[in-house]
Amino acid sequence: MKLLSFCMVAAFAACAVLTAGSQQATVAHDKQPPIHSFASVDPIDAHIHIYKQSAALSAFLNHNRLHLIDIVVIDDRDPFYKDFQAQLTEAEEVVRSSNAHASLCTTFSPYDFEEPGFSQRVIRQLDENFADGAIAVKIYKTLGLEIRNKNGMYLTADDPVFKPIYEDIAAHNRTVIAHLAEPTSSWQAPNPSSLDYEYYKGHPGEYAYTHPEWPTKEAILAARDRLLEENPKLRVVGAHLGSMELDVDEIAKRFDRYPNFAVDTAARVPYLMLQPRGKVRDFLIKYQDRVLYGTDFEMMPNTDVKKGLAMLENIYAQDWKYFATDETFEYKGRKVTGLKLPASVLRKLYHDNAVQWFPGILAKQSSEASGN
Ligand SMILES: [Zn+2]
Repeated sequence: MKLLSFCMVAAFAACAVLTAGSQQATVAHDKQPPIHSFASVDPIDAHIHIYKQSAALSAFLNHNRLHLIDIVVIDDRDPFYKDFQAQLTEAEEVVRSSNAHASLCTTFSPYDFEEPGFSQRVIRQLDENFADGAIAVKIYKTLGLEIRNKNGMYLTADDPVFKPIYEDIAAHNRTVIAHLAEPTSSWQAPNPSSLDYEYYKGHPGEYAYTHPEWPTKEAILAARDRLLEENPKLRVVGAHLGSMELDVDEIAKRFDRYPNFAVDTAARVPYLMLQPRGKVRDFLIKYQDRVLYGTDFEMMPNTDVKKGLAMLENIYAQDWKYFATDETFEYKGRKVTGLKLPASVLRKLYHDNAVQWFPGILAKQSSEASGN
């Protein structure tokens, strides 16, 4: 499953860097919370997949003053992600027991898009989810890369069949999280130095290079851009740097064109690390209201909670080192120096932007005045 593997790759990478980092990290870990300053910005992980409620998770959220946007996904190619209801039930349980530290991002099945009454069915379901507290709606890369119409054409995110659904989401002041396309390396010949090389080696079924019949990445992103253009009242957060992971200039162009567009960093922080430090830093400062922190971490019902949380903590620690400090560390054989973003920008990346782009995210927490 692509999601799991991207998450796992990111997680193992984080672990490896921390291990290779220094003895100091280990020592500090025993004496104080390793991501203490991370907690001080009231972090929001705006892109995570947690399908297992536990007391340890609740304690972790409290301890780190952390808020999650827990995202459900429908993908008929995966046994777990195929079953929307089971997944929704797990995620709703995580949200319910989180002491207002988690919010739900729901989704809908697009597979029956040619059936009569499709958009009404979806709107009914989404409205129920909104009434139950969902703050966002995920659309997924099966649009563009998998689903075809009766004539064999690939269904894209800007198809008119979705128009009333987007209007409903905007009318409820909810936000779309759009995971469309794949990393560019999916369309390129195998390259051992690519961040995704191992992933596509293990998942040939998702490797666009070996599927010349699939649409190009440019075509999929052009459809995403039309969606932004045609729905100016709809807020859209592009997951995974909006699939423009290779060059922040490409993201900047969209930000200039579409005021209703932001991106999250989920599973793509390493792609930022590989770009010139000054350029990324300038981009994050110039567009400080448009980038949201997220991990894409995944905890399945059968995940070992203790190990999972340790892994997640490592990701948070490494990302914090990159965004908040000017420490130099090694990533995949390259030296990376942290961006040391100004405190106000850091706070927007980790907290304020999620509050702006996902209205209602903290409503429950503040009304309960839990102080956590
Ligand atoms: Zn994800």
